[in-house]
Amino acid sequence: MSENYIVSARKYRPSSFSTVVGQKALTHTLKTAIKNEQLAHAYLFCGPRGVGKTTCARIFAKAINCEHLTADGEPCNECESCIAFNEQRSYNILELDAASNNSVDEIRKLTDQVRVPPQVGRYRVFIIDEVHMLSQAAFNAFLKTLEEPPEYAIFILATTEKQKIIPTILSRCQIYDFARITVTDIVEQLQRISQDKGVTAETSALNVIAQKADGAMRDALSIYDQVLASSEGNITYQSAIENLNVLDYDYYFRLDEAFRTGDVPQALLIYKEIRDKGFDSLYFVNGLAQHLRDLMVASTPQTVELLEMNNDIAQQHIKQAASFNTRFFYMAMDLCNTCDLQYRETSNKQFVVELTLIKLCQIMGGTPVQQPPQPRVQKVTAAPAPTSQPAPQQSASAPAPAASKPAAPAPQQVAAPAPVSQNRPAPRPSNPAAPAASATRRILINKQSSGNGATAGEGAEKRHTTRTADFTPEQLVVAWKKYINNNPGEIILLSAMRNSLPTKIDNNTYQIEVENNVQVEALSSNMTKLLQFLRDEVENDMVSLDIKLSPKGVSTMAKTDREIVKDMYDRNPKFAQMIKDLKLSMA
Ligand SMILES: [Zn+2]
Repeated sequence: MSENYIVSARKYRPSSFSTVVGQKALTHTLKTAIKNEQLAHAYLFCGPRGVGKTTCARIFAKAINCEHLTADGEPCNECESCIAFNEQRSYNILELDAASNNSVDEIRKLTDQVRVPPQVGRYRVFIIDEVHMLSQAAFNAFLKTLEEPPEYAIFILATTEKQKIIPTILSRCQIYDFARITVTDIVEQLQRISQDKGVTAETSALNVIAQKADGAMRDALSIYDQVLASSEGNITYQSAIENLNVLDYDYYFRLDEAFRTGDVPQALLIYKEIRDKGFDSLYFVNGLAQHLRDLMVASTPQTVELLEMNNDIAQQHIKQAASFNTRFFYMAMDLCNTCDLQYRETSNKQFVVELTLIKLCQIMGGTPVQQPPQPRVQKVTAAPAPTSQPAPQQSASAPAPAASKPAAPAPQQVAAPAPVSQNRPAPRPSNPAAPAASATRRILINKQSSGNGATAGEGAEKRHTTRTADFTPEQLVVAWKKYINNNPGEIILLSAMRNSLPTKIDNNTYQIEVENNVQVEALSSNMTKLLQFLRDEVENDMVSLDIKLSPKGVSTMAKTDREIVKDMYDRNPKFAQMIKDLKLSMA
């Protein structure tokens, strides 16, 4: 490392909004506010670490003081003020890290500073990082300043833990939610940096780095530096996975082959190889679960965009996925999930993993194995199963009782009116037969049911009647909210659910519109449980939910619960009626 070596995170820190990675919508909103001079006195920047909160705060401070703001709302980076900012000698920006300076004294020093007007430029910007760490006393000392700031003072509070910010602060701030940065955005940025540095880098290697960074650009850059340091100007996939101790995905692809052909010995040997390499078994099981999930979303054109990976690698997954049917994916993921749970409790961990691998080898056509004990799941899958024809794949490798009774689905045929479009049986080699083409980017979740059709016979035996009680959209919303209240721990899921209430499309089909892929995933992965709950609540097994990605994409402004309710109230007359009927207060 030479003396003028600068870590990438610093060297490539964006100096304008347009170069901030992965926060397009948000930076656009900020620029518009600056252009229109609609500035608030206090902002709250929320989001995980390393996604650009402080960077944006600094650019913001620079832009509002810039003497030649561009038409686009960007700082010019040329005027005296901008240069002072870029050289970190501007007096118009003050940063306090509340994580290490959370005492009353520190905050007093800051509030003393607030009284000093800017000598040059128009605004002084005070950035308080990790503001939730302020002590109670420090916070009280700060509150007065926040309530009556001088005209030239602007506060930008940043936090990784929005839920710890008290309402007194929330209500005084304009809130901006920073999203995790996607793998694709990170990979692209790393490609730009590599080019700039004259480094060659395999996309697959950058993909590994991006995945390891888990949505944080800052982490991605330091991991990148670490890999680069041992790569002599040529970052390869091999060097990246060795350096970062990541399991080569080639192992997973080889395992797929064993699953496809039912080759148990091969699967067990690959697992041994992995252990011999020093990888933890639980790490492997979770990696395998993720891999299967990736293959599943790669198997259908509608969900390909849920792949968190660069295009080249996505293509590999799409190709691989074509060897399996949807039933395999659901069962395989379920097996991995069960393995993960059992692993933590059993003393014979290796055995649990091996047994799981054996079962995985049998889904596609080996000797039948018992299904994972998931009676609730089977109930769900049984209910709205296709009525038009018995699922053909049932005879292929379904558990014995169902296979011996091809007429099993009969009982449902009586009760169930054919549900939505998606009711044809899953084709065996599943790929890319696009079902019911739709212009919107819908992810049809009832597919889950039909795809799992193999369990239908068994489930139908357990319950002979399909519940079809009448219910109103309001009742479904009540059930929806009950689920939210009953499951306080599932944070991402709940925030997705709070942001979108189900709206009726037809009979028993409801739509949820969500704003980003994280929410889509949260809903999809909890769909079975959620559907079961809703069906039990309204006593109707035909309820199904479509998830729709909002066309406007990621929303930038965070909303408080109250604002969300207000929003729903304004937008949905039925919801407003419900509030009235239940004599709830909107206050
Ligand atoms: Zn300027």
